[in-house]
Amino acid sequence: MEKLIITIAPTGSIPTKKNNPNVPIKPDEIIQTGILCEKAGASIIHIHARNPADETASTDFQIFKEIYQGLSRETNLIIQISTGGRAGMEYEKRSERLSLKPEMASLTTGSVNFTSSVYANSPDLIRALAKDMKTYGIKPEIEVFDVSMIQNALDLADQDLVSQPLHFNFVMGLKGAIPATIENLVHLKNSIPRTATWTVAGIGANQLKMCTHAIVMGGHVRVGLEDCIYFCKRELASNEQLVKRIGQVSNIIGREIATPDEAREILGLIYKK
Ligand code: ZN
Repeated sequence: MEKLIITIAPTGSIPTKKNNPNVPIKPDEIIQTGILCEKAGASIIHIHARNPADETASTDFQIFKEIYQGLSRETNLIIQISTGGRAGMEYEKRSERLSLKPEMASLTTGSVNFTSSVYANSPDLIRALAKDMKTYGIKPEIEVFDVSMIQNALDLADQDLVSQPLHFNFVMGLKGAIPATIENLVHLKNSIPRTATWTVAGIGANQLKMCTHAIVMGGHVRVGLEDCIYFCKRELASNEQLVKRIGQVSNIIGREIATPDEAREILGLIYKK
């Protein structure tokens, strides 16, 4: 079976140090986490920025730049910048960071009702972000919160706004998104093109379970404190601990872990360094 790509999502927009002191907030902490997670077996890092003063999600270009440059210098990880809108929904703010030309960026191809807010991604905004990624030579990770978002991504491919082979991340078990069941995962996997690659991000206690399904099914995995702050019941995790554990699960099952360069090959990335 193809080697396993482990993505680390260390920070996200929500958890704070009060929730878990291991959440890296400042650029330097995120860079240090990247170094540790690469050693533990990660090949992709999914990046968000925070305001150092109050830990809230940030759209500040300079913060993204500092994180991006530090990780490029200190690691061989594939850097995937989030274009998620929790920090601010406007297109200009979400697009600006793409000018850093990371190898990957996230692209959510639909809207979601979160618990008390709407994560709004209009068709125009999705097309504009996809177009920017194409211009900068960035491979999108298509964030799928529901089955319809796959069809929206295939429509973008038909319009030549994203290039095949596509890469999907199935976000499962978040309130408002598709429930984290193996039946749903099988359906999602069967709904994408055969040439596409895929990753699963299970939210909360679903992380380990859904990642284990993905390892067996030939998909890839995303772990990290963005999606779950616990290692097990009542025990807080660190990012590198979550990477290490999922690597061990994969090894036990008999599937090897991809290095960043092997992940580049699997994803068809143009090597930029
Ligand atoms: Zn994210």
